[in-house]
Amino acid sequence: MEKPIYLDYNATTPVDQEVANEMLPFIQNYFGNPSSSYTIGRTSKEAINKARKQVASIINAKPEEIVFTSCATESNNLAIQGFLLANRDRGKHIITSAVEHPAVTEVCKYMTTLGYEVTYLQVDTFGRVNPTDVEKAIRPDTALITIMQANNEVGTIQPISEIATIAKKNNITFHTDASQSVGKIETDVTMLGVDLLTIAGHKLYAPKGIGALYIKQGTIIENLFHGASQEKAIRPGTENVIHIVGLGKACEIAQRDFDKNSQNMLLMRDSLLNGLKNNLGEQVTVNVSLKNCLPNTLSVAFDKVEAHALASVISKDIFISTGSACHADSIEISSVLKAMNIDIKKAAGTVRISTGKYTTTEEIDTAISIITDAVKKLSL
Ligand code: PLP
Repeated sequence: MEKPIYLDYNATTPVDQEVANEMLPFIQNYFGNPSSSYTIGRTSKEAINKARKQVASIINAKPEEIVFTSCATESNNLAIQGFLLANRDRGKHIITSAVEHPAVTEVCKYMTTLGYEVTYLQVDTFGRVNPTDVEKAIRPDTALITIMQANNEVGTIQPISEIATIAKKNNITFHTDASQSVGKIETDVTMLGVDLLTIAGHKLYAPKGIGALYIKQGTIIENLFHGASQEKAIRPGTENVIHIVGLGKACEIAQRDFDKNSQNMLLMRDSLLNGLKNNLGEQVTVNVSLKNCLPNTLSVAFDKVEAHALASVISKDIFISTGSACHADSIEISSVLKAMNIDIKKAAGTVRISTGKYTTTEEIDTAISIITDAVKKLSL
């Protein structure tokens, strides 16, 4: 096959051509430091201001509530560490879920070295947190709740607004990692009721190495880096103008094309699943409830097949990822599938297939045929 079929959009997305076009003048010509007061400096400053509005708009925030960072990992660190360090008097207890990305889990773990305690909420078999469990976990010293909007591996969407209501009632700040959800499902900070929200550029057709953090007006964050006064000194350092411009444009496009893109991702995902089910029947099972799932994500298990063998056999033609890590003589099941209590055999046969706005019917038809053949061969 000429060009492999990319079905791993949750890992990263290509840069949209419109995004690249918007960035190009800032690579080639407009190199001014946004802090300089002469024209090319002002051009950079204005470009940042424009991007801030574009990013704010897609999540229905105010531009002044957006801080640009280098990635979602940094945004999560700034949200969790930054909030807790600035609000030491609010207590030393954090509530999170058992299915977070390491960019949240590892920050929480680090906070325990500073005397914080973390409650990891268990999830149901589809990977969903029960809001009642959040309420039960709250203690007088709970300072922060951090629960992702949607899971990167299985696509499960969490009941964020219900959790936000509980957080508000108890005067607890609420952060959500929306790295996988912005541009795929409605992510409106007012409707969700969150105080802090993480955005990742490279999951929505902007380049890698750019992210943003929404900080609701009135939420105090301590800066993790110390320097000059860029980004209101919350994130000092000369701004990455080129990537900021790219993220702004990517958010504008994601908002403009939201219906079209989410419908395409859903249609492609569901066609793929239907095709695989038609060909393989009971050998295919979906690990989540598709009612509460990102429109592009398919966590699917193939009975009698080892996911790594499958991914490897098709890797010349199709790019997908697996739900487990393969070591020399053992298989390590991902923490997300473990938390969902997925049977070890099923977890070992689980792959993540994620569609994107560029996925076509032709690609899906080819993918159905290649995956079906590979599964049949491997399960002989
Ligand atoms: N959070 C979630 C849910 C993710 O899926 C990812 C990336 O896969 C991240 C955070 C980290 O993103 P980055 O590596 O760009 O910092």
